[in-house]
Amino acid sequence: MKKQLAVMLASIVLLAAIAQTNIDKTQTAIPIEMLFPQGKTKALILSFDDGRTDDRQLVKLMNKYGLVGTFHLNSNKLSTNGYLDKAEIKSLFKGHEVSVHSFNHPSLSRLPKIDIVYEIVEDRKELERLMGYPVRGMAYPFGNTNEQVINAITGLGIEYARTVGDTYNFTVPTDFLKWQPSIHLFGKTNYIPNDTANDRKELAQFYKLIDDFINTKELALLDVWGHSWEMGNTQTKWDETEKCFKLLANNSAIYYAKQIELVDYIHAFNNLKFSVEKNMVYNPSAITVFFKKNDKVYNVAGGITINLPNE
Ligand SMILES: [Zn+2]
Repeated sequence: MKKQLAVMLASIVLLAAIAQTNIDKTQTAIPIEMLFPQGKTKALILSFDDGRTDDRQLVKLMNKYGLVGTFHLNSNKLSTNGYLDKAEIKSLFKGHEVSVHSFNHPSLSRLPKIDIVYEIVEDRKELERLMGYPVRGMAYPFGNTNEQVINAITGLGIEYARTVGDTYNFTVPTDFLKWQPSIHLFGKTNYIPNDTANDRKELAQFYKLIDDFINTKELALLDVWGHSWEMGNTQTKWDETEKCFKLLANNSAIYYAKQIELVDYIHAFNNLKFSVEKNMVYNPSAITVFFKKNDKVYNVAGGITINLPNE
């Protein structure tokens, strides 16, 4: 009798242990890792500011290599000397993104709130009229921002705003209104005039980052920003740009993204509805989202629920 009781007790302890294991298996954090659109592990943003006439040559070069750009424009400067014409931007930037860079390019951090609002709303409105779609992104003029600027642009329909605070890494930003790019095109070459030693060092660092991006096996976003006027009339700089574009083009691991497209995609991923046991997921957005669970790749189309077997 005592022996039977002991066996019974042992069984109960064992069953409890199994139940405990099952709970652990299903309820501990099962890592879900976002992948970029089309299930890609890398994404590339190429972002250029100011809308000067040199953008024509830049867009031509990007189109030649199938690259996608995000162009931040000051609409009150368009159709003035040295800037693109208002009438040409819709066709020039076909397949690329046009985004806010303020109406007149002031340093926003020095302005009262009402003037910040004016600079952003007027630019948005005019760019939307010219492009024919809602313009939702932005780059801060001179990269300048602070809490007052962020506070002023919140509620104006701006969903990301790029700074010039280079990270020199491939991290996906989490604070979209303080969006930090990876690196300036060609690093800080030409930041100090006539310092060729520094230029060489900066250029080497730039190509090292490009190389790291191409070779990494981790999830990686490379965000390169710059200005077409930096190349200006200097053929060697355009040759350098073409060399860089060639390195980045036609890579099946890379998703070539408009910045707003990536913002929408990250929101869609963050808004996936997982069941408690993470064995089902519902995607309420209209975007197909790709992710990894236990190293297996899944995609869930908009409006669909799928099963994610716990093996
Ligand atoms: Zn600018």
